[in-house]
Amino acid sequence: MAGLSKTRISEWFQCPKRLWLKANRPEEAVLEESQLVRMEAGNTVGDIARSFYENGILIEEPDSLREISATKAALTKRKPIFEATFLHKSVLIRADLLIPARGGYRMVEVKSGAEVKPYYLDDAAIQSWVAKKDAIPLRKVEIAYIDTSFVYNGDGDYSGLLKYEDVTEQIAPKERHVPKWIAGAQATLAGDMPERATGKHCKEPFGCPFRTFCEKLERKPAKYPVEILPRDNGLAAQLRADGYADLRRVPAKRITSKSHQRIWRITKSGQPELLPGAREALQSLPFPRYYLDFETISLAVPAWRNTRPYAMVPFQWSCHIESSDRSMKHAGFLSDGSSDPRREFAVSLIKVLRKRGAVIVYNASFEGARIKDLANDFPDLAPELLAIVDRIFDLLPLTRDHYYHPDMKGSWSIKAVLPTVAPELAYDNLSVANGGMAQDAFTKLMDPQTSPTLRRQQYDALLKYCERDTLAMVKIAHYFEGIKARKSRR
Ligand code: SF4
Repeated sequence: MAGLSKTRISEWFQCPKRLWLKANRPEEAVLEESQLVRMEAGNTVGDIARSFYENGILIEEPDSLREISATKAALTKRKPIFEATFLHKSVLIRADLLIPARGGYRMVEVKSGAEVKPYYLDDAAIQSWVAKKDAIPLRKVEIAYIDTSFVYNGDGDYSGLLKYEDVTEQIAPKERHVPKWIAGAQATLAGDMPERATGKHCKEPFGCPFRTFCEKLERKPAKYPVEILPRDNGLAAQLRADGYADLRRVPAKRITSKSHQRIWRITKSGQPELLPGAREALQSLPFPRYYLDFETISLAVPAWRNTRPYAMVPFQWSCHIESSDRSMKHAGFLSDGSSDPRREFAVSLIKVLRKRGAVIVYNASFEGARIKDLANDFPDLAPELLAIVDRIFDLLPLTRDHYYHPDMKGSWSIKAVLPTVAPELAYDNLSVANGGMAQDAFTKLMDPQTSPTLRRQQYDALLKYCERDTLAMVKIAHYFEGIKARKSRR
């Protein structure tokens, strides 16, 4: 019988094919850097949870058999145990925290999320079932997760970071299903590779590392898959079930919402559409025009005093500045990661944006909210920061209302729009090419262990990426205005 673990059963829940591939074709997995960073964040939260129990015993052995015997020895000491390891019916689990309680133990699963997600309960049910079957008298099962109202006051004091929810009763009915889950996962492992087409399940609750492999297997992926329809309320799944893979083949009567009809019509025609009004809206904006973009980092465990878990802390901005003669220059700020970046970020921004001119962003709710956060954090800078918010012009709704190109495939993100107006400037030649990668790069700058060479590489990659975002806005605005060439100076 093949060995299972809580993680393997969770993978089977997501997709039996994923479990099968992990066991039989592990070399096909492509783990993204951002997944590794998330795992690292989970480890940091786990370390903090342990730090609240000074006399705990960590089970750390070279193999699972020795971990099981070390756990047995630790249980005789009636102390908190970290990574207590149990085995029942070929399912091996490691409990994050096992704390002595009246009449037995309290088991705590530690998670880096900000709420108790449904799959946490499945995980806890598996852990609890195995531990009880291995004769552990569990009195309570809890999930510890991040309390987003916690404010870090510095000096490494994270007491209050975690909230504990007693899930003993919630998971009791699930525990009855665990033998069935185990049998299902075992049957998958014993059989041939399951058939499963890619779809939304490949991203939830986790990004699947076999995505590239599965997409290659799908013989003729559609050029415009029906899944490009945004907020589709299950329409794409229905269309797939009815044999429609490519949006262009779907009959008009199956597309009922106005926004879907627009995407369907333009995709079918193959011709981009630019409606009147975009040019006029841009021409009304005063000069100088500041094309502005922020990068932020969101940490489960706050690193800087007076910040909360998962707060979006801005660490970089880029700005292309356009004068009335259409000449351009570029300015930017990027923290070196050694200290709280917020004040330097705010002061440098105020200095460059001055007091007049349009501040053009792509999704005003993001940049606007970050500037308001900074005004809140630094009351002495608030008047100047809030004056910037009043000058913001949002290019995103203008683009969404006036422009669509078939190659945008249902998305108005700047990364989807840019290649359709300036193909030479796409993001695929950048080593940092999206917000998640930017966060990963910045975590490397924050890490004192990062070598100077890697630090320099990450720093330069971040500079290039954020500058590309603001240049993209310039290109989109100029495309709408019908401007082809302009002078440039740095
Ligand atoms: S990519 Fe999707 S279909 Fe393929 S194994 Fe992963 S979850 Fe399953």
